[in-house]
Amino acid sequence: MLAIERGLEIVMSVAKAKDRPGRMAVESVPLSESMSRILREDIVSDADSPRFDKAIRDGFAVHFEDLAQVPVVLEVIGESRAGAGADIIVDRGQCCEIMTGAPLPAGANAVIMVENTERLSPNSVRLLKSVRENEGLLRRGAEAQEGETILKVGRRIGLADLGLLAGSGKSSVTVSAKPSVAIIATGDELVEVHENPRPGQIRNSNSYTLYSQVLEAGGAPVLLGIGRDNLQDLRSKIQRGLQDDVLLVSGGVSMGKYDLVEAVFAEFGVEVLFDKIAMKPGKPTVFGHRGDTYVFGLPGNPISTIVSFHVFVRPLILFLLKAENTKPKMLEAELEAPAKCDPERAALIPALVRFERGQYRIATAPWKGSSDLVGLARANALIVIPRRAGVLEPGETVQFLPME
Ligand code: AMP
Ligand code: MG
Repeated sequence: MLAIERGLEIVMSVAKAKDRPGRMAVESVPLSESMSRILREDIVSDADSPRFDKAIRDGFAVHFEDLAQVPVVLEVIGESRAGAGADIIVDRGQCCEIMTGAPLPAGANAVIMVENTERLSPNSVRLLKSVRENEGLLRRGAEAQEGETILKVGRRIGLADLGLLAGSGKSSVTVSAKPSVAIIATGDELVEVHENPRPGQIRNSNSYTLYSQVLEAGGAPVLLGIGRDNLQDLRSKIQRGLQDDVLLVSGGVSMGKYDLVEAVFAEFGVEVLFDKIAMKPGKPTVFGHRGDTYVFGLPGNPISTIVSFHVFVRPLILFLLKAENTKPKMLEAELEAPAKCDPERAALIPALVRFERGQYRIATAPWKGSSDLVGLARANALIVIPRRAGVLEPGETVQFLPME
């Protein structure tokens, strides 16, 4: 059976083969809506940062040499406040009152914080502590210089980036357009969330977990509802879904008599590159493509769907977005209780992880198999159990995917 890594390589190699200049569009979004989007322009600082030598303490701008012996009394010759610098030159024996963010007046080379001073009169102050040269201030250009590239193409815009974009005067930002991702849930047993299941029926949950996973990855989910387990209904829904950049069909890809999804993929000329992965849960994951559309059949059990999406679909969406990092956010932990391996399949199963004594510690959580959302909800991670014989012993290092 195909290893997870090999399956992912196949998905990514198809994506690379289809990639051509201009395939995934860019768009301009307002700064306030750019969080988590993938940046598609280099951002160059339009000025030195800071723009001028500035105080980073409230206090007095001084010659540090004057404070070699303390206490010492200096003449106060003016005030520099944020937004309005002082047009003065501070000579030896003098100082200037200054506030955080205000320009350093000429001559001064340090700022002593107000807590270490004693104001004697409007034009004199006693300084109680020495300062080092450049203490209490930031020189012009210390953070970035005019013309310096501060953010590069491919970055997922984070909080600090957003602040930098604002500081650089970018009221709109060029980012990757979101790939459209069609979502079809299949099954004769499914009813919608607002409906009451009759005997033998269950509510459709996969459409909503997939919808959220698509959003988190950076795609634009398109819910196409429930496809019934008959050729006619699946044909019309899948035909519609093939219009989008990515089509996700949950359920109907196992060995059951009414698992018809692969047959319909074949009718529409979808080239299927794999339909089984050595993975638990998620074994009957199907991947193919047709024209410009990537097609996935995800096993219908709720946890299988979540895991398969995470392993195969999320990296593809990130690739389509031209993100510099398409890898899952895996972390490492020390195993606390033995975990049985399977020589046939790697497993991603619910686990409980906590940070204690300087590192993550993890153990598998109780769960009743790939339909058990309750078990997953009570866990906070998926632990990766490698495909091999035997047992992982406590103390071994394992990888996990945080789920909170
Ligand atoms: P299937 O992959 O179609 O054989 O479905 C496997 C299991 O997952 C069955 O027990 C289904 O009832 C369940 N299932 C399939 N689709 C969904 C869905 N959209 N929401 C919740 N459970 C589902
Ligand atoms: Mg089914």
